[in-house]
Amino acid sequence: MERTFAIIKPDAFAAGNAGKIIARIYDEGFKIVGLKKLYMSKVEAEGFYYVHKERPFFGELTDFMSSGPCVVMVLEAEGAIKKWRDLMGATNPAEAADGTLRKEFGSNIGENATHGSDAPETAAFEIPYFFSGLELLA
Ligand code: ADP
Ligand code: MG
Repeated sequence: MERTFAIIKPDAFAAGNAGKIIARIYDEGFKIVGLKKLYMSKVEAEGFYYVHKERPFFGELTDFMSSGPCVVMVLEAEGAIKKWRDLMGATNPAEAADGTLRKEFGSNIGENATHGSDAPETAAFEIPYFFSGLELLA
């Protein structure tokens, strides 16, 4: 079983879409092994997205991620990383396939409703950034 790290971003949380997204997570067969609401600081958002620090959208992205509460989760399934990326859809909601979360709940390329780890090494950084081992006892 593989684990991935997921976020219901501030746009989706503020719009009241967290429940619908969590329902989809269960419907698709993931196990939720960690889940909490938190209100990230700007510094915490910068640390989380440090791989993007040279990108032109880094300031906008970290402002957005610290603009309101979000839900952070650890999801478990066979091939969880790809499975969750597939369920989210393309980064830009305008290009995301029908039936994906970003198509349904995203607004634009920045405010795109969800985050997901893109590789095992990324998940290995992102999961312990927000969760302790004790919070992930399955
Ligand atoms: P993904 O979240 O699909 O892995 P990236 O890792 O490329 O996408 O980007 C991280 C996040 O940065 C995106 O989910 C989105 O919120 C934001 N982002 C990406 N590209 C842009 C852009 N061109 N303008 C504004 N925000 C962006
Ligand atoms: Mg990414």
